[in-house]
Amino acid sequence: MVKLYTPGHNIITDSLIMHGVLRILGVLGYHSGVVQRVGERFIIDIEGLDQHSVRDLGSKFRNTDVYHSLQLTLNLYINKGYMPRDQKVSKIFESNPNEPANRSWATNLSESLLNLDLSNYLSSDHITSVNEGRRKGVRTLYISLSSIYGKYQELDYNTIDKPYSVCDTCFGLASLGLIYGALATVLRRENSKYSLFMTIIPEDRIEIRDLLIIQRLLEGYMTMGRFSASAPSDIPLLALPLYSLSVGETLAAIESEADVLTWKVAKVGNFIRSLDTALIRLNKLMDFITEVKMLIPEWPRIVSQCFETEDGFTILSELTEVIVFSREISHIYSTVRSIISYIEDMKDTTCKNLLKRMHRVSEKLVETITKVVAI
Ligand SMILES: [Zn+2]
Repeated sequence: MVKLYTPGHNIITDSLIMHGVLRILGVLGYHSGVVQRVGERFIIDIEGLDQHSVRDLGSKFRNTDVYHSLQLTLNLYINKGYMPRDQKVSKIFESNPNEPANRSWATNLSESLLNLDLSNYLSSDHITSVNEGRRKGVRTLYISLSSIYGKYQELDYNTIDKPYSVCDTCFGLASLGLIYGALATVLRRENSKYSLFMTIIPEDRIEIRDLLIIQRLLEGYMTMGRFSASAPSDIPLLALPLYSLSVGETLAAIESEADVLTWKVAKVGNFIRSLDTALIRLNKLMDFITEVKMLIPEWPRIVSQCFETEDGFTILSELTEVIVFSREISHIYSTVRSIISYIEDMKDTTCKNLLKRMHRVSEKLVETITKVVAI
């Protein structure tokens, strides 16, 4: 048994690093152990490893097909400009608000993977031991990997002069975390690009095996907006988990308590900004989705076809608030009323017909929400 400590950069970077570590463990066949969240950091307790064997994890990973295929994909992008066909990998470039930095991200990732050394995390003071942060370091932590609390706000992205830098291991693992453990949704409008990210972390502790299963939900990448006139001008961050978990692969019940961590970054004109972060309880949301899918089997289709509009996302965001935070019946009814009036205003006949199912079961919906909220 060995303990690894994520460094403590911030909750987003550490969550990604945790997922990156887990994917390497998964690829190498270490599925037993527990991830515990301690504030903004994680302690990963791994069975079947000792301090000495942790030093070999990086080189063992470099002998796997997963590693070779990733390096090949990155090198084709760096040298030939081929956007990776694997959506998991292209996601990091497609969602990067700073597109001119994509090639250097690929180069940084390719190089940092050569130096991955998980034994850096055997001690809980890795950050201070290698002097990471704003002072000096090897790799810049891109905004998608950190969303560092408004650091880029109001700054022209050409003039950023103090990037947050980390070592190869932190950079490589955070990038792997984005590839394998964070879902990205990108909304493009004429002069702007919004990237919303979502990952799942333990509320307290979760088995490594369960988190590896959860990663299957998080590998994806969705894009919307560019070709659709009805696409929203923005997506509220709170709408994202309900949207993606409704349309995505159904997940078996998660026994452990888990949180959904979401963050949003954007490029509007020439400005790159970190816009928002939110942490909400996953289990209530999953319970709601499971109940609704039983009542309305068309729910995933309804959400993907009919709620991809400005008002639709606002409703999903309201619904999330009701499910996760609100215990007021009046709030529940007002949300159901907005769903009904949304249905009535719908012009698309397919959606209107689909949504009629929801109309008929709106009372059941209230019952479901009330039940979930009451738990
Ligand atoms: Zn580091």
